[in-house]
Amino acid sequence: MRALTVRTPGEIILEERADPFAGPGEVLVAPVAVGLCGTDLDIIDGRIDPAYVRYPIVLGHEWAGTVVGGDPAVAAGTRVVVEGVVPCRACGPCGSGDTNRCESYDEFGFNRDGAAADLLVAPVRLVHELAAHVTWESGALVEPTAVVYRALERARPVPGRRVLVVGDGTVALLAARLVHLWSPATVTVLGARPAQEPLALGAGATRFTTEAAEAGGGYDLVIEAAGSAAAVTAALGAVRRGGNVVLLGFPGNDVQVPVSIDDLVNGDATVSGSFSYTSSAWASVVSLLNAGTLDLSFLVTHRFPLERYGAAIEALRAASEARGKVLLEVA
Ligand SMILES: [Zn+2]
Ligand SMILES: [Zn+2]
Repeated sequence: MRALTVRTPGEIILEERADPFAGPGEVLVAPVAVGLCGTDLDIIDGRIDPAYVRYPIVLGHEWAGTVVGGDPAVAAGTRVVVEGVVPCRACGPCGSGDTNRCESYDEFGFNRDGAAADLLVAPVRLVHELAAHVTWESGALVEPTAVVYRALERARPVPGRRVLVVGDGTVALLAARLVHLWSPATVTVLGARPAQEPLALGAGATRFTTEAAEAGGGYDLVIEAAGSAAAVTAALGAVRRGGNVVLLGFPGNDVQVPVSIDDLVNGDATVSGSFSYTSSAWASVVSLLNAGTLDLSFLVTHRFPLERYGAAIEALRAASEARGKVLLEVA
């Protein structure tokens, strides 16, 4: 099989590997669509926290595919998504449902080979079937959507809130879409590139701007999804007293931001990080897709066959035009 492998930071190749085989309790899946994101660039470039990656690694943590063999609990031909975090189910956090914080970190595309390959083996317990109407594009977006869903589920905004999303990449656009499940009054997106405006409005933003001064402040809920030091500073400065800031972006291992502690204390603010997703957040997103409540296809703007991974990575690094999700088509 082919496998898109980062051998070591800076060295990525599409290599031939022996086909894997499914053991007991496992299924063999043929990935169809694999999304790339900024975290993949961090893995390629070696910017990611070393505790959360190993090299060599096959990329691909946002994907959907077809079961082709293995455990008979899922029939061959079933269209599926597979949770990327592999919880041990034995530790304290797993026992309380916080599977994103499992004490044994194990995740496809990070320290376990991912889906940018013709085949992948996965535990059958992590497999979720997609309804026939759910597109491959939506399936490939379940992973980042579950990340956003988990953060919002934790923040639990009551209806009528003023929401600011900082960022204009996939996670930010998904946040602008998903927060509507909690009936906000307004959703402002503070982006970096004017070309992203149509995607942001399509996602459900009521307003899009690239000027922090225009976005203003006094927000009930601020979701930081840009992953830069400047964006974190903007997010912290835009929350109202008593409001909530959720940090989702990764500025890079060891990036620091000066914070006015007095402002946070006087502002009675809640600032929280949200890491990855729980099994239950993943299941909720699949339910929304299967019920037809959510369709994420609008977000995919770039598609490349697997062998053109170089062009896909370039599209991810620099785009002057509107850019949503960049997909690799494997099958
Ligand atoms: Zn990602
Ligand atoms: Zn665990």
